[in-house]
Amino acid sequence: MTEEFRTVIGLEIHVQLNTRAKMFCGCDNNAEGKEPNTVVCPVCMGMPGTLPVASREAIEKTIKLGLALGCEIPKISKFDRKHYFYPDLPKGYQISQYDQPFCKGGQIELESGTVKLNRVHLEEDAGKLVHPKGSKYSIVDLNRAGTPLLEIVSEPDITSPAMAKDYMKELHLILRNLRISDADMEKGQMRCDANISVQLKGERRKGKVASSPIVEIKNLNSFRFVEKALAHEEKKLQEEFEKWPEKKTKLTHGFDSNRGTTYPMREKEEAKDYRYFPEPDVPPFDLTRFPIEKWKKELPKLPSHHRARLSELGLTKEEANIIAKDDTIKDVIENVAEKNKAIIGKLLINNVEARKLSIEALNQIADTIRDGSPSNWVRDMIRRSVKSGKLPLEIVKETKGLAPSSEEISEKTKEFTKFLISENPDVVQKHKAGKAGALEFLIGQGMKMTKGTVNPKELREELVKQLEEEKR
Ligand SMILES: [Zn+2]
Repeated sequence: MTEEFRTVIGLEIHVQLNTRAKMFCGCDNNAEGKEPNTVVCPVCMGMPGTLPVASREAIEKTIKLGLALGCEIPKISKFDRKHYFYPDLPKGYQISQYDQPFCKGGQIELESGTVKLNRVHLEEDAGKLVHPKGSKYSIVDLNRAGTPLLEIVSEPDITSPAMAKDYMKELHLILRNLRISDADMEKGQMRCDANISVQLKGERRKGKVASSPIVEIKNLNSFRFVEKALAHEEKKLQEEFEKWPEKKTKLTHGFDSNRGTTYPMREKEEAKDYRYFPEPDVPPFDLTRFPIEKWKKELPKLPSHHRARLSELGLTKEEANIIAKDDTIKDVIENVAEKNKAIIGKLLINNVEARKLSIEALNQIADTIRDGSPSNWVRDMIRRSVKSGKLPLEIVKETKGLAPSSEEISEKTKEFTKFLISENPDVVQKHKAGKAGALEFLIGQGMKMTKGTVNPKELREELVKQLEEEKR
């Protein structure tokens, strides 16, 4: 059945910006842990006669996201009033953007394809309704009213529920990377409305209704729910395809995360129902007067850039992904020597203790562990360096004065290698028979016997040399 259909998904994602003040007033934008209705003022409570003043910080953060996503930043942008009645919206309208948003177009690159964007616009969040259990009334908390809210609208380029999840994860990563939002979904700082329809492909399309209605699923607040709700709706739209009336309609659904199913909500409003008109109290913005070029230069590199670069350096896709997501590891990788990036990347992923080391210490470790040194030697060195606060090269010197390239240690290594070979005749036989891993085993044994004080690189070289000589 699935092969007959193509799935079309578009996402509208709302993101609260982490500005110091709210969108149009000076109230603290962080109401976490505060009593209801204590982080409010006449402006964000919608009192008559108050005047909104737009936050420059919010506009800057919006435009920076637009620049990072390759959006066009128009010359002029303005706010509009979007009217609807709901108890958490005291003004009776929301200040939003209609036809002249701050950012137009743009795209997000995913492994599964490119998702073009329609726009990124800025608006204010509404308050919150609280429904006390067992009571017949609801109470209103306006602490959230007036929080700067981004709306990121994609084109319907997403072709599967899994791709929708990937898209959302990538956007989440970009927002965190730019440090414009904490995007904590559990706290409602990032929420998603998803639009889905299924269309008939090829032959069967002739003379038939080509598309199902578009179903909008509201307020999805986790990556998993986005995928689950869309998968549920996709299946239902396919199964009930023949039943849909000719006239294309729009339906609005909610998602029941306990059951994993969707349920009908009120009909979706069309733009005309909102009676948009330009916000008379906030004049339009001449964006040519904003330091856009400077902001562009200040942008950090995007996760996709880091992934591509790390892959070039020889890390696997999974490793590159882990690093691109972890700001702390990424910052370290940016600062270590170019030749050591891959080795240190792997180290930081696999060894939590290594994350405590300085850039210099990491570089020294990477310099001493080329050519597949045994991991227990590396672990030991990291542990010692973290514990003593000494640099790895100091430790190498201290432990029996074994500096890696001195003549003396070479003599010692030579002698020890001879000893190692005589102690492990079976393994030596296996090596001569071409058994993979025998050499590594010998090196591992050597590290163990010397408690890591011999240089693994020299031991390896010496082993290879002496074993070659034995063959002759
Ligand atoms: Zn306020």
